[in-house]
Amino acid sequence: MARSAGVVRPAKGFGRADHYYGLRAIALARGARLRGQKVASQHLLNGASSPPLRGGEYPVRMIDVINPARFSEIVGKVREFTEADVHRALDQAHTSLQAWSRTTPEERASRLGDAARDLRNASPELVRLFVRESGKPLREAEIDIRRSIELTEVVKNDLPQWSKPELIDPDQPVWARRRARGVVAVISPWNSPVLVSFKRSIPAIGAGNTVVVQPATYCPLTLIRCVAIINRHLPSGVLQAVIGSGAVAGERLATDERVRVIAFTGSTETGRRIMELASRTEKKVFLELGGNDPAIVLSDAKLDDDAIARMTYGVLRASGQACVAIKRIYVHHSRLNELVEKLARSFDRVVVGNGLIPETTMGPLNNRPQFDFVTGLIDRCTQKGLVVMTKGRKLFAPAWNEGFFMLPSIVLGAGDDDEVVRSEQFGPVIPIMPFVNENDAIERANNTPFGLRASIWTADRHRAEALADRIEAGAVFWNNHGIFRDLHIEFPGIKRSGFSRESCWAALDHYTDTYGFAE
Ligand code: NAD
Repeated sequence: MARSAGVVRPAKGFGRADHYYGLRAIALARGARLRGQKVASQHLLNGASSPPLRGGEYPVRMIDVINPARFSEIVGKVREFTEADVHRALDQAHTSLQAWSRTTPEERASRLGDAARDLRNASPELVRLFVRESGKPLREAEIDIRRSIELTEVVKNDLPQWSKPELIDPDQPVWARRRARGVVAVISPWNSPVLVSFKRSIPAIGAGNTVVVQPATYCPLTLIRCVAIINRHLPSGVLQAVIGSGAVAGERLATDERVRVIAFTGSTETGRRIMELASRTEKKVFLELGGNDPAIVLSDAKLDDDAIARMTYGVLRASGQACVAIKRIYVHHSRLNELVEKLARSFDRVVVGNGLIPETTMGPLNNRPQFDFVTGLIDRCTQKGLVVMTKGRKLFAPAWNEGFFMLPSIVLGAGDDDEVVRSEQFGPVIPIMPFVNENDAIERANNTPFGLRASIWTADRHRAEALADRIEAGAVFWNNHGIFRDLHIEFPGIKRSGFSRESCWAALDHYTDTYGFAE
């Protein structure tokens, strides 16, 4: 059994799963029985071994990561970390901090560069694994993996320049210098476990911190694999992945004295809980939370094929399971019919299926609770008498019920207080509502606790800019609803969407303390 610094490497040939991570693979290799729930074995924690907890035995809980496009396929198994496991990971992170934080920025940059090269070489394998555990289509999974690697390269390139002391008063003189903050806990959501974890972890490591990252248990395998690859180039304990429930592993990270920074991305409710917990030990907390992004389509909007394609992608990216997806559309009443007709035609061209099949343009939802919520939401819309237009094509219809597949839907007739408008639906369903004047549209767009992104669709750039000033969102896009191409650029959400700035430069600032040095 090959073992790298991050995790146990995939072991082939055990049952149906073709990737086993953690203790089970070791236990099976030694002939231990798992069914009895007690395994006497060496305890493995991200590549380090440590003694078992009590008398050589402790309960082991394995988590099956299933393919959301094919329930019968267990993509991998991960051992769930206990609180004591997380404690040990933090011991390691704390111990490794001293030496790592004293390395030069050039050394850290060089190690990250080597890691990026290995990640690039592994990217075909990473993309396919990511498709199988997330459900995303190949193209979207490829974007996530590519951007994660690019981010590693950007941090590598920026580090030496960014780390230079800054002369802030040449007369005295006074210098601003940076030092690492300490152990950083990164907690990530299931809808973007790789890119989000990279955006938080890589700048933190680059700045000289050690990192313990916890991906959500629905979709942890690709990140675990990435951690193993990166760890070929890092000293032990600098980067570790812990896999466990929010209630156990996550809360341990949020409360442990040694963690100095928490970078959390997830729902607003969990973010609030983390902030409460973190306040007990005065940690720095960065929160990236939920969203309910509006798109406002003005009377002069150019609704050509390109614009409709961008809007469709803005709604249906990641099957709608994206924090920055369009979640409500307000359209000038004079353009309602045209927009509905064009968007419905575009949704009709969506091919829903297994993401590994190149023809697929939209994959399944990721997990059972999300699938049940979104299908229930649509049922409740229908029961309320709203018009639900379901579009799209099923790829291989016989396999439809073997995954969390849904066709995309447009909902008409919803009022501002309807659940489909107020909640973060996180699925391929979009309410379209008419407005009469722009003030009304802005007021309704702002009528939400969230403030992540928004978009304005108009032929007139000046109108877009003027309205953007009045929209409560961290970023407003003109005739698009997307992301910033340059990984240096990011704007935090506002209101209850959090307060973090994850772009490269700003993230590097997050993870250091600046101190003065005066002559
Ligand atoms: P979630 O809040 O349920 O879980 C996120 C992470 O927190 C998981 O790793 C989970 O294990 C952990 N967690 C849960 N309870 C915890 C606790 N009590 N203490 C510590 N950790 C705990 O969110 P989710 O369902 O995984 O993700 C979807 C949400 O994430 C959506 O609301 C989405 O908008 C948001 N999101 C935001 C951004 C952004 O950049 N703003 C990006 C992606 C996702």
